[in-house]
Amino acid sequence: MKPFQYATASSADGALELCGKNDQFLAGGTDILGEVKEFVSNPGRLVNIKNLPGTREIVETDTGWKLGANVTIAEIAAHEGLRRALPGLTQAAAKVGSPQIRNMGTLAGNLAQHSRCWYYRHRDVQCLKNGGARCYARESENKYHSIFSGNPCISPVVSNMAVILAALEASVNIRRGKQTFDIKMAEFYMVAWFNPYAHNSLKPADLILEVNIPVKTRSCVYLQVSEKSDFDWALVSCAAAGDLDGNALKNVRVALGAISPMVQEVEDANSFLEGKELDRRTASMAANIILEEAEPLEHNGYKVPMARALIRRALFKLAGINLERETS
Ligand SMILES: Cc1cc2nc3c(=O)[nH]c(=O)nc-3n(C[C@H](O)[C@H](O)[C@H](O)COP(=O)(O)OP(=O)(O)OC[C@H]3O[C@@H](n4cnc5c(N)ncnc54)[C@H](O)[C@@H]3O)c2cc1C
Ligand code: SF4
Repeated sequence: MKPFQYATASSADGALELCGKNDQFLAGGTDILGEVKEFVSNPGRLVNIKNLPGTREIVETDTGWKLGANVTIAEIAAHEGLRRALPGLTQAAAKVGSPQIRNMGTLAGNLAQHSRCWYYRHRDVQCLKNGGARCYARESENKYHSIFSGNPCISPVVSNMAVILAALEASVNIRRGKQTFDIKMAEFYMVAWFNPYAHNSLKPADLILEVNIPVKTRSCVYLQVSEKSDFDWALVSCAAAGDLDGNALKNVRVALGAISPMVQEVEDANSFLEGKELDRRTASMAANIILEEAEPLEHNGYKVPMARALIRRALFKLAGINLERETS
């Protein structure tokens, strides 16, 4: 690793003063320290933001939930109130990495984590994302990569929390210079969809302060398939959130991770599901709408049927239908 300065901020103002263009924030360190050790990222200074006031709380508000940037994934997974109100959120948190990662890793760090593409993470490879001329994954080892992309980079969003938070229509509160503004979770990776250099829509020294969920309770579910049961990212993940009016689905949002540089959501599928009673045909049609423009590569075609199965399962769980009975 290259030498770097280290500073601790005790306020958001202080953090922004300390963090220049070539510096980076340090929360739990589970992502950034790996990059620094491997020469993938070479910040001039790491600004420790773990103790910023008000960023370690989970609060039920009049209209929903506020999660501080530095709340750990373990705290979300273990929160009884969240488990009762938004079960998909605690399910997504409980599936992150391993107990060690969940204990150290923060919500903001999870959302802002950088690409896990093995070419990007290799200290001796300079691919498009870290300033090189080409994407190596497209024509080589792309087993874990996207089946959708709006640019030559096919590194997918692998944050569990982003997927469930998108389904819950959450927004991220960000401090940029003297301004504070909200960005919808659905837009948090929009820049990475178009721009191969971007990991997300944050600009250098943008500071995430909190995440706001606009509902107090909602039926929601998070499912994923991984190669290993622990210490691993999802091959494909899927979240669904919504309400039931009798047997009819209302306000359903389906979101998928690990298949696109942004959380994959298709508005037409949500509209298609509105007011419908769920059966096998409806679930399959929603999955078809979501996946119809998928462009799998040589080694990741398996993600299409995997995503289709997860969408169907998530919708059945949301509707409270036992899938085994329904499909037998
Ligand atoms: C072995 C392993 C397995 C994993 N498995 C999974 C998994 O299954 N699912 C999953 O979702 N994730 C997984 N992760 C990722 C893990 O969840 C993240 O590394 C962790 O949440 C990052 O949080 P952190 O606080 O450690 O972030 P850090 O490493 O401190 O920071 C990560 C990035 O976020 C930026 N950052 C941190 N806080 C802020 C802020 N407030 N504002 C702006 N930028 C900020 C940092 O500058 C840095 O670029 C895994 C990681 C490992 C190492
Ligand atoms: S997918 Fe993106 S990060 Fe991976 S090699 Fe291609 S350009 Fe680099």
